[in-house]
Amino acid sequence: METELFIGGKWVPASSGKRFDVLDPATGDVIATVADGDESDAIASVDAAAAAGAAWAATAPRVRGEVLRKAWELMTERADELAKLVSLENGKALVDAKGEVAYAAEFFRWFAEEAVRIDGLVKNAPSGANRILVVHQPVGVCVLVTPWNFPAAMATRKIGPALAAGCTVVLKPASDTPLTALAMAGILAEAGVPEGVVNVLPSRSSGKVVSAMLKDPRVRKISFTGSTEVGRILLAQAAENVVNTSMELGGNAPFLVFADADLDAAIEGAMIAKMRNGGEACTAANRFYVEEPVAAEFSRRLSERMSALVVGPGTEEKTQVGPLVNEETVAKVDGLVRGALDEGASATIGGSRPSGQGFYYPPTVLTGVAPGSAILREEIFGPVAPIVTFTDEADAVRMANDTEFGLVAYLYTADLARGLRVGEALEAGMVGLNRGLVSDPAAPFGGVKQSGIGREGGHEGLLEYLESKYIAVNW
Ligand code: NAP
Repeated sequence: METELFIGGKWVPASSGKRFDVLDPATGDVIATVADGDESDAIASVDAAAAAGAAWAATAPRVRGEVLRKAWELMTERADELAKLVSLENGKALVDAKGEVAYAAEFFRWFAEEAVRIDGLVKNAPSGANRILVVHQPVGVCVLVTPWNFPAAMATRKIGPALAAGCTVVLKPASDTPLTALAMAGILAEAGVPEGVVNVLPSRSSGKVVSAMLKDPRVRKISFTGSTEVGRILLAQAAENVVNTSMELGGNAPFLVFADADLDAAIEGAMIAKMRNGGEACTAANRFYVEEPVAAEFSRRLSERMSALVVGPGTEEKTQVGPLVNEETVAKVDGLVRGALDEGASATIGGSRPSGQGFYYPPTVLTGVAPGSAILREEIFGPVAPIVTFTDEADAVRMANDTEFGLVAYLYTADLARGLRVGEALEAGMVGLNRGLVSDPAAPFGGVKQSGIGREGGHEGLLEYLESKYIAVNW
């Protein structure tokens, strides 16, 4: 497969000639080397995106939509091969990788349909003197920065709406997982995306290349998915040229189980919310709050289900939980679990790092976790479920909201009135009510508080790439 930079519709080596290694998380072995873009490659990418901008913005929305639709078809035809690539470089189980590829492709289909729904507005001025006309125009050149945990979906969730809106883009994928992004560049070119409209720039010097692009006045937007820590840095840099920003940042999702909940459904939902992607998801349930009367049974049943999961290399069909992405992630998960155990928690299953090669951590359930423990405050990003009990609704909501994050929250109850009341009280951009999965290309995905700014997916996702222009008209 192609492993060079993709700039102006061509595969080109890094200007420095440098390359970097991509590792297999199951073994730590090198599986490919990829061109390592630097600041001059970043500016060359912006040159290409800027040069292609006017023609793409002027391309009929129907044509832009059809190109995206073709990209959906190609991704769907090649789903198995793309899933293997995702699993190989990210480590996730093939079953999760297949789910991701289907989800990722859907963003192209959804935004193919949205491209022809860029509307405007005309109304009378209250004074009666003139008309107010509002049109939507593409923002311009966009820098897209994506994380390693969903290397396909986080890219299509940005490229889809940007292209539908008439913007051109430079995608800087995570350096742990650049291969999927390069494969998608090939698919987009084959689907008919003109030269320069999509550029893909793998780099090991992410900070420097993104910063160089943000300093370039031709760049009008940055859309970032990743940690809150890096999001803060990019918001500060974007402030220099007052660049439009969309930020999809970290999460710390609470998962509330009330005593009246259907426990079978709650366990099913917990397994999806916790274990999809081996826990390496911004939407992963990070803290379980279970009402006292059902807490022991919930913990027992969750432990049973988690301990039955097959752990192994992501690329093997029977694997349900693959390795984590890298050594640093395993060390972080291990540190959080050790801290919780030191503070008095007990591990009903798992709880310690296995020996041997690969970046593995076992499914783990912790009970008796001390309130205020770091594992409840920080994003775990691994297959660990800390359980805390509660005695009343107000207490559950207070604990759930006791975090600077606000991406998603889950709650299980048989009482719809309580479900809606608690759903409204939870400080999160998304709520799963009797559901352990909220992601849907047709819905606005995003967070409040320090989980982000803006939404991806739905019609809202398209608006992130459009500016409103108001024209005051006399007629
Ligand atoms: P990360 O360390 O913040 O990295 C994300 C991206 O930013 C990568 O492409 C990374 O490149 C790049 N980057 C790192 N430092 C940078 C800098 N100083 N300037 C510009 N770019 C920089 O996050 P991650 O570890 O890849 O992903 C996990 C995080 O993403 C979690 O916090 C998770 O919650 C969040 N996430 C959020 C959502 C959401 O929709 N809200 C979805 C998925 C993930 P390198 O790879 O080269 O470091």
